[in-house]
Amino acid sequence: MARDQGKVGEQKSEILQAIPAACADETAAVEFIERLRWGNEPWCPRCGDLNARQMQDRQGNRNARYLWRCHGCKKQFTVRIGTIFEDSRIPLRIWCHGFWRACSSKKGVSALQIQRETGLSYKSALFLMHRIRFAMGADPRPPKRSGAVQADETYVRGKPRHKKRMSERYSARREEWSKKTPVFAVVERNGNVRARPMERVTSQTVGAALAEWIEPSAEIHTDESRVYHFLGKPWPGGHQSVNHSAGEYARGPVTTNSVEGFFSLFLLKRGLYGTFHSVSKKHLHRYVDEFAFKYNTRGLDDGERALVAIRSAEGRQLRSRIRP
Ligand SMILES: [Zn+2]
Repeated sequence: MARDQGKVGEQKSEILQAIPAACADETAAVEFIERLRWGNEPWCPRCGDLNARQMQDRQGNRNARYLWRCHGCKKQFTVRIGTIFEDSRIPLRIWCHGFWRACSSKKGVSALQIQRETGLSYKSALFLMHRIRFAMGADPRPPKRSGAVQADETYVRGKPRHKKRMSERYSARREEWSKKTPVFAVVERNGNVRARPMERVTSQTVGAALAEWIEPSAEIHTDESRVYHFLGKPWPGGHQSVNHSAGEYARGPVTTNSVEGFFSLFLLKRGLYGTFHSVSKKHLHRYVDEFAFKYNTRGLDDGERALVAIRSAEGRQLRSRIRP
């Protein structure tokens, strides 16, 4: 999820200029993705051989399926092999459009909007957007956070699982809580965020996430919530908290402003309460990934962000199919 800002490549502006054409024309889209993936040296995604040739039709034009032939393994391939595009029939220009829209819209873009703009079925549009979020959540082993790290949780209202029973006030309130899912996040001061939904926020679940995401030497800053007071053992780098209920929001360098900013400005206001209204628990992590990606690429412009996201499509081949 974490991503270094600015690693976009040297011929950046030239590639950026190709995005509008890639969203409109299939050949332009295929060549755009090929260039992003291979540069000037196409290689076979099955065996890695560099000795590959573009296949042509009798008129000498490019093969209608954009096939290549590998001289190493003698097999044919396209640029889709080994990427999130592999088992999809959606044209690459529509993929490019989806990436562009997802990355250029602050609030995110809904499957319904993509359906209207592209003519895909709603089901295909939902599939497309889920996969794009999956690519945005790439980076299976991001570096651990260090220095001063802020940790906090928020509660996200999801789709109700059961019809509301109004008969008992007590059960209605319980119902309300059962619809909320906690999302836990850590942010380096002025740095990147990591976030994930959790079944429950307890000292144990939070302690496990911190151990996975944060260097032991990092100092953790939180609010006064009791959850953070018993992180198993004392945290090696130290733990400081501000007391929100006493009106304290910063004490010297100790604050949770950055992580609260991620929740309020990125995840909730722009995304989940804006465009998506309510998201089912099952898919919440994808939306969290999307907005963490946007937060972590906030220093890039829309085109650069789209390039980073499309590049993540490579090597993010799905082991299990994503169903809408
Ligand atoms: Zn090969």
